[in-house]
Amino acid sequence: MNPRYSIVAPIFNEIDNLDELIRRIREVMDSTGEKWEIVLVDDGSTDGSSERIREIAKEFDFVSPVILARNFGHQIAVTAGLDYAKGEAVIIIDADLQDPPEVILDLIEKWKEDYQVVYAVRTERVGESWFKKTTASLFYRIIFKITDVDIPLDTGDFRLLDRRIVDVMGTMRERHRFLRGMASWVGFRQIGVPYKRAARYAGETKYPLKKMIRLALTAITSFSYFPLQMATWVGFICAGVSILAIPVVIILRAVSEQVFLGQASTLIAVLFLGGVQLISLGVLGEYIGRIYDEAKGRPLYIINEEDLQKRKGS
Ligand code: UDP
Ligand code: MG
Repeated sequence: MNPRYSIVAPIFNEIDNLDELIRRIREVMDSTGEKWEIVLVDDGSTDGSSERIREIAKEFDFVSPVILARNFGHQIAVTAGLDYAKGEAVIIIDADLQDPPEVILDLIEKWKEDYQVVYAVRTERVGESWFKKTTASLFYRIIFKITDVDIPLDTGDFRLLDRRIVDVMGTMRERHRFLRGMASWVGFRQIGVPYKRAARYAGETKYPLKKMIRLALTAITSFSYFPLQMATWVGFICAGVSILAIPVVIILRAVSEQVFLGQASTLIAVLFLGGVQLISLGVLGEYIGRIYDEAKGRPLYIINEEDLQKRKGS
């Protein structure tokens, strides 16, 4: 019999969080009185988390291990988890206990009221640096402004997805994934539940600035053409300004002593335009690189087959 609920937790070097994660989730999920499973996706950990996950899977029936062949990144790890989750409702949660497992019960409650996506909205974030909070807040607002999909503010991947949503998302095999956007894009009935984001139980963040920027770029390029259109607007503005400048220069030359001399003004104009063109090329490159990645059609992730065979019920 398939479980009613599947919890998907991506794990990248979270050895000190694993046991506490299982304990807390077990406490919460057992209280539902229904069948549940937890899919632990190991995203190429190097700190012994993979071995610990295999041990935990042997010990507990409700644990399904999915061990990836290397580090594929958080969004891909969650995707692998969604692919292997069997539940009618699937809950994505971080493994570092920043998303309190107790909130899962609130998500389930809304799901039972017939919502297909129940996302958890961070009303407060504890134990994170000022820099992380500010950049994250800015990130959500920029994405919200420029994308064509209504991606809720201050919402991470901590959410419940109905089986229907998981199945549809399973058919969306894009390489550069922004799952929050994809879940919003699918539609159906969606609602937010407020919660207070806790501090990490143990360990350090696995999302340094570089990875955050990459995720932001993925979010923007996956759901908006705005950066591409920006080149058009800047082009119009520059062309407009230069056309206006022609009569101004001629009139000033004719009626006054004012003459535009020297290389500086020319150089500034040329450098400005050169800069704008290079930036536009970079933007194009960002999109083309992604098209190239899609065209290659490589699998999203590779899993360790041996572990798959050992999975219970498969
Ligand atoms: N994670 C992952 N692969 C990665 C980076 C992170 O599976 O390449 C997992 C990580 O183990 C954690 C979750 O994604 O369970 C969220 O990461 P983290 O807590 O470091 O991000 P933050 O909460 O600081 O934004
Ligand atoms: Mg975290």
